[in-house]
Amino acid sequence: MKSYKIAVIKGDGIGPEIIDEAIKVLDAVSVKKEFELNYEEYLMGGAAIDITGEPLPKETIEGCLNSDAVLFGAIGGEKWDNLPRDKRPETGLLKLREALGVFANIRPVTVYDELTEASTLKESVVKGVDLTVVRELTGGIYFGQPRAIEGDRAYNTMVYTKEEVERIARVAFDIAMKRNKRVCSVDKANVLEVSQFWREIVQEVAKDYPEVSLSHMYVDNAAMQLVRDPKQFDVILTGNIFGDILSDEASMISGSIGLLPSASIGGRVGLYEPIHGSAPDIAGQGIANPIAAIASASMMLRYSLGEEKAANRIDNAIKRALREGYRTKDLSAFGAKEVCSTSEMGSIIAQYASEGS
Ligand code: NAD
Repeated sequence: MKSYKIAVIKGDGIGPEIIDEAIKVLDAVSVKKEFELNYEEYLMGGAAIDITGEPLPKETIEGCLNSDAVLFGAIGGEKWDNLPRDKRPETGLLKLREALGVFANIRPVTVYDELTEASTLKESVVKGVDLTVVRELTGGIYFGQPRAIEGDRAYNTMVYTKEEVERIARVAFDIAMKRNKRVCSVDKANVLEVSQFWREIVQEVAKDYPEVSLSHMYVDNAAMQLVRDPKQFDVILTGNIFGDILSDEASMISGSIGLLPSASIGGRVGLYEPIHGSAPDIAGQGIANPIAAIASASMMLRYSLGEEKAANRIDNAIKRALREGYRTKDLSAFGAKEVCSTSEMGSIIAQYASEGS
């Protein structure tokens, strides 16, 4: 039997509550004895600061690097907001991403049929949306040199190397091959040289994927098209700053922050986390929606462990729970037959996942 080492970072606020449910569901699919998961818990964020004084202790970095994947909840809270920047919880997460070398951020946006009403967009616009944003995470203007504030001027630099564009494009094309085989590369090639370069490299990479159809879109148009007709997209491939903005915009199409997972991959070890934060306002009440964390666990099975069948079982179990009217409090206004707690929702999904074929 295959056996995998999973580093678990529960973090702060609702982090521990939702990660416990993700593990419950993972155990339910691995119980089929096709593979075994061994978890090791590590500290990061506020929980780590309280015990060690550091947001990302050395043992956490080493433990994560020696694992097959990292499953992470969320970090942060008011208690640590006034610490100096390098001691704050968020610094821990940024440093962990860097240590793992993850350069591709993947955010699928699925609109579940039962929850179309939860979106601020019209039902006819969002029904059936199923897209994935692939964002380059470690290059572009957020990291480019030179950068400075100098007297009465300031500047940043948007740089991409051939290697950086090639590797993120490959991630997007590989994902498209497992989906509907369409990639839309988003840039600003009408104005920026770096975008013209990006476009040329993406076109080169596309030659290795003859089954995938490639289109290009300027970022201003993409921002508009995402709210006009999001169904037109399958995989959106884009750079760091455009991806930062577009992935947040895309996440709102689904209407609920508690549903959306993410993966950061491409480095030594993949990192899987819900897109939401630690939600201190609802922590400890047993009302957090665990679906984003559970869907992140499913992405971990798919992208880091290659356990596609088990990932599908989880995705189908989430859909079934929603179809049958189970809702956590955040979604209770949208077709709830039964409002359940965080742990009840986890148990229902775990049960359906273990029944799935
Ligand atoms: P947040 O995502 O934690 O919460 C925003 C709103 O969404 C809150 O009303 C919250 O109750 C609700 N919400 C979030 N997740 C939910 C879930 N699973 N189920 C039901 N409702 C949910 O964002 P925020 O309030 O801006 O930030 C709170 C803390 O989280 C801050 O310290 C922030 O720095 C941190 N944060 C961490 C991460 C991360 O760990 N990756 C990401 C964003 C924010």
